[in-house]
Amino acid sequence: MVKRWIKGGLRGALRVARPLLLAGAAITVGPAHADPAQQGAIPWWQSAVVYQVYPRSFADSNGDGVGDLNGITRHLDYLKRLGVTVVWLSPHFDSPNVDNGYDIRDYRKVLAQFGTMADFDHMLAAMHARGIRLIIDLVVNHTSDQHAWFRKAVADPASPEHDYYIWRPAKPDGTPPNNAPSFFGGSAWSHAGAGNDEYLHYFARQQPDLNWDNPAVRREVYDVMRFWLDKGVSGFRMDVIPLISKDPAFPDLTAQQLADPAAAYAHGPQTHAYLGEMNREVLSHYDTMTVGEAIGIGDNEDALFTAPARHELNMIFHFDASNVDRDGWRPRAWTLPELKARYDHLYAALGDDGWTATFLGNHDKPRAVSHFGNDDPRWRVLSAKALATMSLLQRGTPFIFQGDELGMTNFPFNAIGQFDDISARNLWHDEVDGGHVTAAEMLAILRKTSRDNARTPMQWSADAGAGFTTGHPWLAVNPNHTAINAAVEARDPASVLNFYRRLIALRGRAPVLVRGDYHDIAPENPDVYAFTRNAGDDHALVVVNFATHPAEVALPAGIRLKNRLIDSGGGLPAPVGARTIHLQPWEASVYRF
Ligand code: BGC
Repeated sequence: MVKRWIKGGLRGALRVARPLLLAGAAITVGPAHADPAQQGAIPWWQSAVVYQVYPRSFADSNGDGVGDLNGITRHLDYLKRLGVTVVWLSPHFDSPNVDNGYDIRDYRKVLAQFGTMADFDHMLAAMHARGIRLIIDLVVNHTSDQHAWFRKAVADPASPEHDYYIWRPAKPDGTPPNNAPSFFGGSAWSHAGAGNDEYLHYFARQQPDLNWDNPAVRREVYDVMRFWLDKGVSGFRMDVIPLISKDPAFPDLTAQQLADPAAAYAHGPQTHAYLGEMNREVLSHYDTMTVGEAIGIGDNEDALFTAPARHELNMIFHFDASNVDRDGWRPRAWTLPELKARYDHLYAALGDDGWTATFLGNHDKPRAVSHFGNDDPRWRVLSAKALATMSLLQRGTPFIFQGDELGMTNFPFNAIGQFDDISARNLWHDEVDGGHVTAAEMLAILRKTSRDNARTPMQWSADAGAGFTTGHPWLAVNPNHTAINAAVEARDPASVLNFYRRLIALRGRAPVLVRGDYHDIAPENPDVYAFTRNAGDDHALVVVNFATHPAEVALPAGIRLKNRLIDSGGGLPAPVGARTIHLQPWEASVYRF
């Protein structure tokens, strides 16, 4: 069986603030809590804390049930108060929304449901006024089949646009050019237009892959990038970027490759040549932050994308750790030592100069607290804080997915009709309608793993529409919004939200938590994740109990505990000089030593 993707399933300018001229007014964009004396020469994108906004589900300002840009603008003070310094906006472009915006029809137009270009400019200026930068989603492995380029390509095989896409003749027996599977089910080839040719689409058939070997395509992409950078955006999250280069021979995938197509697709011959060119042509002329979505990439290949001397990207998202609970689309049991080993492997591969992005959630994953933590009411708050401590204080630029700062949970799905996501619906079609898996089993799997778990509306308040909308939400609001919401949490000093605020502020004050090296001091401990961060004479120890019972970690010689910097609520601090730290269930603490 081919492994498919329910996402994740496959596997500068310096910190010194930069004046920007927007709408005639000079403003300053930089980390909100930049402290020049303390932070030395840390690039702004390393000390940044990034917050991912999924615009469809963040805030609806006009009551149509769909989030929009004005909704985001209304909530910028919330983000400022949280302490984040960069927003990553998932696609806001014109799109027929077959894959919720990851199928772009017009790269220079705002999706009408989200607002207008004026709304975008207003939102961006309002972010800059608060010292928040914006990075946007660059989705250029593929376009929508509704993009003008693809329409021309189909209408006229002699048009220049035809070569913007990848066409190969079907085999004489009518089967596709090769056996490549689409991540969303079925073949990666579909027929369009007159003649025998099929076009390549690694995702839905409505998402044709661009032909990066055509220099005109690359020029178009660079122009799009300049268009947004000239507006004042500060960089890009690059969608499935390792997939842009293809082996033009399109050999059949081997049985081994079919078990992990992302790894097969992610190793085209020109990827790094194209990223180097992109950097030379575009990125090097601006003060940017770039993060590549590195599906199919092993830890050891990180440096190929991110080593500063190579001038490609600043950082990439690795999925090995966050996929520890998955085997393709099936959940799998995992242990804490296994999770730690995946991080250790990544950090070892990165070395002292390497950099990465740290994250537990995004719009392609279920809710972090529901898969790495424990969303039982007894443990939800504590485990959400524990996960935050681990993820925000690892070595890298942390990314927070909207709502994780509230400890939002998975949705209690109980019927396939409740899912919107194309990957869930296609999987159901192939596996349940195809008679391979029972409906009950698939429902149990999707309830755990579906991307829609993360896409339910942001829970702002206990109101009927969760404060997200006054209308009918495009995807159901989680019924637990009456208890789990920003309004309640803002008032509760012990809430997940207020813990995130304190944690982000702590990271902002302590350069060791940004730039310090990373060392796991108890890799075999089955309950406690304990790692140090060290920079010169500055040392911090992060300890997180992943168990629902008390646990302890013995400290190696050489660690002499000093004061506790933060605690998620529970135990007394370990005394100065203690040799062992005892932790309450799901307790997380940070010490100086
Ligand atoms: C995005 C997904 C999307 C896919 C195809 C991914 O990286 O995060 O949401 O379905 O690319 O664009």
